[in-house]
Amino acid sequence: MKMITGIRFFLLSALLVLCAACAESSGSVKREGKINVVTTTAMVGDLVRNIAGEKAEVISLMGTGIDPHLYKASAGDVERLAGADMIFYNGLYLEGKLTDVLAQMRKGGIFTVGVAEGIDKSLLFSPEEYEGYYDPHIWFDVVLWKKAAKIVMEAFSHYDPQNAPVYKSNTESYIKELDLLQAYIYKRIASLRHERKVLITAHDAFNYFGRGYGFEVIGLQGISTDSEASVADIQNLSRVIAERRIPAVFVETSISPRYMRALQASVKARGFDVRIGGSLYSDSMGSPGTEEGSYIGMFRSNVDTIVESLSRSIEVADSEAEAAGDG
Ligand SMILES: [Zn+2]
Repeated sequence: MKMITGIRFFLLSALLVLCAACAESSGSVKREGKINVVTTTAMVGDLVRNIAGEKAEVISLMGTGIDPHLYKASAGDVERLAGADMIFYNGLYLEGKLTDVLAQMRKGGIFTVGVAEGIDKSLLFSPEEYEGYYDPHIWFDVVLWKKAAKIVMEAFSHYDPQNAPVYKSNTESYIKELDLLQAYIYKRIASLRHERKVLITAHDAFNYFGRGYGFEVIGLQGISTDSEASVADIQNLSRVIAERRIPAVFVETSISPRYMRALQASVKARGFDVRIGGSLYSDSMGSPGTEEGSYIGMFRSNVDTIVESLSRSIEVADSEAEAAGDG
C-alpha cells in the first residue's frame, strides 16, 4: 500500500506540473472544432471513432501488441490525457496500472468514461480467483460491445448535446455493422462440431466469447496477465488436452508465446500432438490501416482462425505412433 500511495503522490505531482503546462500549450483547444479524445485501448478508440465520426479527433495510447493489464502511463501519456476534452477507457481494471492516473483526470474535471463500467453487472462474470472484480474482456461478446456503443453515444450526447442526433445516427449505423458481424460469427461457428468447441488460450480473455458463442474456454494464465503460469498449471492443462484430444491451442498477439510452447511440449510428452492453432487478437488489435486493425476485422480474423484450427483432423504424436508400432 505504501508503494501505491507513493505512486499516487508522484502522479499527482506530475499532473499538477503538466496541467500548468497544458493550460499554456493549448492542449485542450479543440482542433478544427473537433472534440479531442484520448482512449486507452485501440478497441475503445475504434468504438469511439465509429460513434463520434467527424466530430472528434481520437488518439489511443496503447498500440498494436500492447498488453493493457501491464501498461503504465509514460510522461507523454499523462500529458496527452491531461490535454483531452474526453477520455474513454475500458475499465473493470483492465488498465489496472492506469487506475490512479484516470481517477486524477476525472478529479481534474476531464469527462472520463469507462465503457465497460456502465454495463449492467448482472451481465458480467465475477470469477472467484479475481476476488470481487469483474472480468473486463467484454469486447469478445458482440452483445456487450453494442451496450458499450450506447454508453459511448450517451457520453457524447451529454458532452455535446447539440450534435446528439449525429451520435445517435452514427450509433445506429454501427450497430447494424455489429449485427452483421454477429451473423458472420454464428455462421462460421455453426460448422464446428460441438465437442470441438474448446478454446485454450494464453490467458482468460475469452470467457464472454465462450458464453456468447457456446465454447468451453480455458486460459493458462488467469484474467490478468499480471501473474505467471506455474509448472503445475501447464501439467494439468496438458493432461486435459491429451485426454480429450483437443486439436489446437492458441497464442495471443499481446502475450509472449513461451507458455503455450511449453504447454505444447508437455502435451507431446504425453503422446499427443496439439497444434498451435494460430495467433488470436485478445487484448490488442492488429496494425492501424489493416483489416485486423478494426474491432470488426479483428473479431472476424479470430473466428476464422479458431474455426479453421479446431476443425482440422487430429494427429497422434510420433511417440505414441512409435509406441503403438512396438506393441
Ligand atoms: Zn486480458
